[in-house]
Amino acid sequence: MILMKDVYKTYPNGVTALNGINIDIKQGEFVYIVGPSGAGKSTFVKLMYREVGATSGSIIINDIDMSELKERKVPFLRRDIGVIFQDFKLLPKLSVYENIAYALEVIEESPRNIRKRVMDVLDLVGLKNKARFIPDELSGGEQQRVSIARAIVNHPKMVIADEPTGNLDPDTSWGIMRVFEEINAKGTTIIMATHSKDIVNTIKKRVIAVEDGMIVRDEHRGEYGYEV
Ligand code: ADP
Ligand code: ADP
Repeated sequence: MILMKDVYKTYPNGVTALNGINIDIKQGEFVYIVGPSGAGKSTFVKLMYREVGATSGSIIINDIDMSELKERKVPFLRRDIGVIFQDFKLLPKLSVYENIAYALEVIEESPRNIRKRVMDVLDLVGLKNKARFIPDELSGGEQQRVSIARAIVNHPKMVIADEPTGNLDPDTSWGIMRVFEEINAKGTTIIMATHSKDIVNTIKKRVIAVEDGMIVRDEHRGEYGYEV
């Protein structure tokens, strides 16, 4: 599913963000990525959806070798990957419904299928009654649930979330985690970069710790391992 061998990433300004990454993540796993700010967590997850490319080393995602993936084929890779951001990145002028439907319209689903799939996914995240609202009319937690709905409406094989609860209060964050656990129970791989000690130490999953661009810890049902 996600296989990285001796992966290095140096940005054009000369900063080396990743310094020899080796990892094997199987379909259906739930993985937290932890570590101090600037450790390389975001770069690590961005390699997984080809937001950035590696400087050297080998990366295989869903059986696709990233070194052989042509730029014009990247959208095909992304169909199997849902991405969730700390700042949601919703389109402000579109309704909740339209923000999610947009993800399906770009892959030419029929209107009937789009309607059914959008309403099903809104049901899953508990926002069926907010379909007509625009993002500004929703709380932060609700906006994040919309962004989760958008990420999963294509039934991706994996969901990558970069600090999804970073802007949310604790109660709201637990609600988001319940949605992730539900999606994961259906077989979706979850990769979540996080600074939440409470979440990592309570909902026990695989923990990969990154420091100075290297994996320093990889534990089944691990701990957060840093003071907050
Ligand atoms: P984290 O997510 O753990 O905070 P990042 O992957 O964002 O770590 O950053 C790792 C290092 O790479 C940091 O030194 C950061 O400043 C640098 N970096 C991140 N993105 C870029 C970029 N686009 N250009 C140059 N340097 C970057
Ligand atoms: P109904 O068909 O009775 O409205 P649904 O469960 O299908 O019930 O829809 C739930 C909510 O989503 C309703 O408020 C509905 O108007 C809204 N909705 C459905 N489709 C769209 C759409 N294409 N654009 C905006 N809102 C929609």
